[in-house]
Amino acid sequence: KKRGTGLPVYHPPDARFQNGNRVYKIVMLGQGGVGKSALTLQFVMHTFQEDHDPTIEDAYQKRAVIDGTPFLLDVLDTAGQDEFTAMREQYMRGGEGFLMVYSVTEKRSFKELRRFRETVNRVRHCNDVPIIVVGNKCDLSARREVTTEEGQGLAKEFNCPFFETSAALRLNVDEIYHEIVRCIQKKELRDYN
Ligand code: GDP
Ligand code: MG
Repeated sequence: KKRGTGLPVYHPPDARFQNGNRVYKIVMLGQGGVGKSALTLQFVMHTFQEDHDPTIEDAYQKRAVIDGTPFLLDVLDTAGQDEFTAMREQYMRGGEGFLMVYSVTEKRSFKELRRFRETVNRVRHCNDVPIIVVGNKCDLSARREVTTEEGQGLAKEFNCPFFETSAALRLNVDEIYHEIVRCIQKKELRDYN
């Protein structure tokens, strides 16, 4: 029978765990003003902020029970997406799931999502990174520039889930964070098999 060498095996710390809890690292992406911070703050603190500082980039941690199991979610709320700095690439590399947010009231923010997806795939060296297309501000129906069908079409092209949300009304807010965790779990199973 083959025996071990008796030397201790070094297991590098796994960044996905914190005190034995699985921590899912989620990154908010999207053009400025689409509601990345509003969605994050609704999810984490159950408040709607009319005027969150658009330059603040911050990480939040939130406990959530998803399909009956408690998890920790690390949510990185990004800001100032125009330049892809080394730092930005670094957190994108560390992110496990990405919420790609546009505003249904701004066509340009919708069109920008392709560029965000290309960057994520490039940085992660992978083209099945868990992502969700999120059309926010669906409460502003009079100012809508992007139809639900267009949103669904883009998600189909990306082969990912699609949600319309309202941070203002707290509509589908928990759902997007729970669903991205499920997407990450599915990817883990795919990679394992
Ligand atoms: P960010 O730059 O992507 O983080 O966008 P913010 O979260 O700062 O939101 C930009 C502006 O849009 C703020 O004035 C928010 O109050 C507003 N906003 C964000 N989400 C919604 C929403 O779902 N509905 C409405 N009506 N306004 C929103
Ligand atoms: Mg913000």
